[in-house]
Amino acid sequence: MQIQHHPLISPAPGTQRELISLHYGKPGGKKAYIQASLHADELPGMLVAHHLRQKLQALEDAGRIDGEIILVPVANPIGLSQYALHMHLGRFESTTGENFNRHYPDQIEAAALAAEAELGPDAEANVKILRRELVKAITAAPVDTELKSLRRLLMLMSCDADIVLDLHCDAQAVMHLYTETPCWPECEALSNYLGSRVTLLAQDSGDNPFDEACSQVWWKWDKRFSERFPGRFPIPQACLAVTVELRGAADVEHGLAEPDAQNIIDFLNYRGLISGPAPAMPAAVGDARPLAGCMPIKAETAGVLTFLRQAGETVAAGDVLAHVICPFSGSVTELKSPVDGLFFARDFVRFATAGMRIAKVAGLQATRTGKLLGA
Ligand SMILES: [Zn+2]
Repeated sequence: MQIQHHPLISPAPGTQRELISLHYGKPGGKKAYIQASLHADELPGMLVAHHLRQKLQALEDAGRIDGEIILVPVANPIGLSQYALHMHLGRFESTTGENFNRHYPDQIEAAALAAEAELGPDAEANVKILRRELVKAITAAPVDTELKSLRRLLMLMSCDADIVLDLHCDAQAVMHLYTETPCWPECEALSNYLGSRVTLLAQDSGDNPFDEACSQVWWKWDKRFSERFPGRFPIPQACLAVTVELRGAADVEHGLAEPDAQNIIDFLNYRGLISGPAPAMPAAVGDARPLAGCMPIKAETAGVLTFLRQAGETVAAGDVLAHVICPFSGSVTELKSPVDGLFFARDFVRFATAGMRIAKVAGLQATRTGKLLGA
């Protein structure tokens, strides 16, 4: 294993943060990239990374890593150091208010223009050319802040990978995934190995989150080249990028993280990055649904929030999921599911302010439009 240190732009004299990446196997073949805690206060992934590094080291010692596996156990050293009034603030950068998982570099057109003259009828060769030009275009685009330098470093390590796993969590939730619709055929096996209850599918959900920045280059290039040069330059969906939501923020336990890490190893084994027979793929315990059918449940008034249903329960339209109780009047407001679906995530705060989103139900039908991700 090789450890690499990547300095971020220093925001002020005397301060310098760095990313650390762990490299297993060797470059040139298949590549997987795994990062933890891009939202720096979402810690289940950091514990999974701890178990992954031990398992990957043992596999490397046994000569079983085929290709290259990069593990970034701390994807966001900026967010890891942000505290206010003793509270950890790891989702938004305190300087700009920007979500750490948005606004990743889009160099799709620049790379396409640079690659165009070399493309041909061989899809695999096209993938190599486009990856090379994408890395060059991301490297060439100027960055001037610590946050932008973090985003560029993460993209540079991941944008030419076959598999990208971004380990996050929700507040209180069951295991679920986000990926782009064109990735679902490849994501289904990951979903089975991880025991995901639902995979939320969208295409370009808005504001370039990290996983979509990695995966959307391929279907956007395919669309671009097939419109301009019909049938001449085949472009496959060469990157499976997935946001893995490792249950809830407090689910940071060896008893969960060790099997999660093993399930990721089994998936990499299944995909040929680890040699030897892969353990049999478990049967699905969930399915894929449109992110546009994932319905936020809102508190209409303020009050004490108490849930009547657990994350992971199947609910019907009209089922009461929570009560919001006004402590002054004693009035109780019922919060109901708007659809039949899987009640897969709920907040951990227990005082709801008016208009606050307090839970999510994954329905089967796409009903929402516009930007689909929350803040
Ligand atoms: Zn997150």
